[in-house]
Amino acid sequence: MAPNGIANGDGNGSPAPSKTTLSAADAMATLKEYTRGDGLSVAELMDSRKNGGLTYNDFLMLPGHISFPANIVSLQTRVTRNIVLNTPFVSSPMDTVTESRMAISLALHGGLGIIHHNCTAEEQAAMVRKVKKFENGFITDPICLPPDGTVGDVVEIKNAMGFAGIPITETGKMGGKLLGIVTGRDVQFRDPEQPLSSVMTTDLVTGRSGITLEEANTILRDSKKGKLLIVDAEGNLVSLVARSDLLKNQNYPLASKVPASKQLYCGAAIGTRPGDKDRLKLLVEAGLDVVVLDSSQGNSVFQIEFIKWIKQTYPDLEVIAGNVVTREQAAQLIAAGADALRIGMGSGSICITQEVMAVGRPQGTAVYAVSEFASRFGVPTMADGGIGNIGHIAKALSLGASAVMMGGMLAGTTESPGEYFYHEGKRVKIYRGMGSIEAMEHTAPKGSAKVAKALGIDNAATARYFSEQDAVKVAQGVSGDVADKGSVTKFLPYLFTGLQHSLQDAGVKSVTELQAESRSGGVRFELRTASAQVEGGVHGLNSYTKRLFA
Ligand code: GDP
Ligand code: GDP
Ligand code: 5GP
Repeated sequence: MAPNGIANGDGNGSPAPSKTTLSAADAMATLKEYTRGDGLSVAELMDSRKNGGLTYNDFLMLPGHISFPANIVSLQTRVTRNIVLNTPFVSSPMDTVTESRMAISLALHGGLGIIHHNCTAEEQAAMVRKVKKFENGFITDPICLPPDGTVGDVVEIKNAMGFAGIPITETGKMGGKLLGIVTGRDVQFRDPEQPLSSVMTTDLVTGRSGITLEEANTILRDSKKGKLLIVDAEGNLVSLVARSDLLKNQNYPLASKVPASKQLYCGAAIGTRPGDKDRLKLLVEAGLDVVVLDSSQGNSVFQIEFIKWIKQTYPDLEVIAGNVVTREQAAQLIAAGADALRIGMGSGSICITQEVMAVGRPQGTAVYAVSEFASRFGVPTMADGGIGNIGHIAKALSLGASAVMMGGMLAGTTESPGEYFYHEGKRVKIYRGMGSIEAMEHTAPKGSAKVAKALGIDNAATARYFSEQDAVKVAQGVSGDVADKGSVTKFLPYLFTGLQHSLQDAGVKSVTELQAESRSGGVRFELRTASAQVEGGVHGLNSYTKRLFA
């Protein structure tokens, strides 16, 4: 007997069949007689003793009730204990996915880029610095020059850093007495040897130290100048505000920024060997916010000790540990102090781990099991690998992940490293597993302009697969190519809008509501048989074109 006194007619919570036909007006009241919602709760769905290990294509969410427009759906999510982003999109630390260009674009659109470590520590730190310098509120460490600096010095800075707005101080350093400013136009068509004292502007708009960023922005806006120089009572330079940052702030309302500095968030991956401590020091000096401990099997003494060391040495640095696919692995890393967990073993599109190692777990089951456990400790999780479309993202979130990490989805965009080339008539870019022989040997991606540079890379770089330094290298990934996807400036808004619609269909207004409703049994699920999966794809057509967005 069900609690409301009505006998169950089947095992699915339906009341006993009635012979009388009810009036349509009774539909809502009758619904209440069912002892549980249609379909399965997430716990029933993910009962691997009954259903086996599942992945994204094996199930669907059932539709909920829509009482709101899709564009109000919030995709805000906590990606680590202390970092909240406006979207759940994170890029993989792979040398064909994330360097500074991808990390900047992703952060501007509300995601987070994790810079790969298949390069020297110095190269990786330079990429992090580039992301951190891209946007600012008050620039408290602007590059300055002395009055006897030359036009050539400014040109050199412009080439290296991308900006030419240089304050001139008596000492040539921050904190020195402000004398003037030089900008790009001041040095155009000038002799490189000419001293800056002869080209600098001395009629300056300044703000007094102590003003708020809002006040500084107002002065800057009204002055119509490119830079606002902030000075103390003695006229010494204390910081700089750039007009271009006002525009960036206006153009990218979702951007992932550190609240105090307004700099973009940047992540980077490292291994857990002793040399990685020196690498991390350089990354932290470059302004790193989040470090990913990059291992295919995170439950190792090396990683546990490394997490503890980071937490002692850099208490403000967020640590994403992993990879894990079981509660037992997760418990070890949570106990060591992880701020988030990365979930996935063998689910990546370029991955042959499950085939070669016979170790891993279907990704849906892994995401559910680890996220359910980690949520009890307030540790967010990231579903890593196997994300191939917007539906997969929505499903990963419904299973409890707070973010998704994407490799193949973002490879092949304009912002991924490497050059396009043609393969069998298609415009493509290289995409390869970090455990592929090609990546372990650090040969440059085919078609990439970086061949010479990449070949000179130090060989202590990645150590994700415990095989890089062995006499026989055992591959856990492949190298291939992916089709040109255009720019992430179009692709990310497509993912964003598509995901809003997905959550709307499920009847939830936010990622956090999706997670809560899924956990409480409000969002319902259904398993898909093999033929249901065929039915859910395009079928029965002679030919068709698949355009994903316009
Ligand atoms: P909110 O914009 O009011 O939600 O609060 P914020 O903390 O984001 O911004 C506070 C002030 O800083 C506002 O005047 C913003 O326009 C400004 N602001 C936000 N991001 C940037 C930035 O990257 N550079 C500059 N110069 N100002 C910014
Ligand atoms: P500029 O006029 O040539 O200096 O370049 P823009 O003003 O167009 O762009 C400067 C961009 O670089 C802004 O987003 C700044 O936040 C950023 N930036 C980072 N560090 C510095 C720095 O030391 N000096 C200057 N001028 N800009 C910096
Ligand atoms: P994708 O998004 O392409 O399906 O998967 C990307 C993820 O695959 C990465 O974030 C990383 O966790 C994983 N990965 C990257 N390279 C390799 C590899 O060579 N072997 C394995 N097993 N996994 C890889």
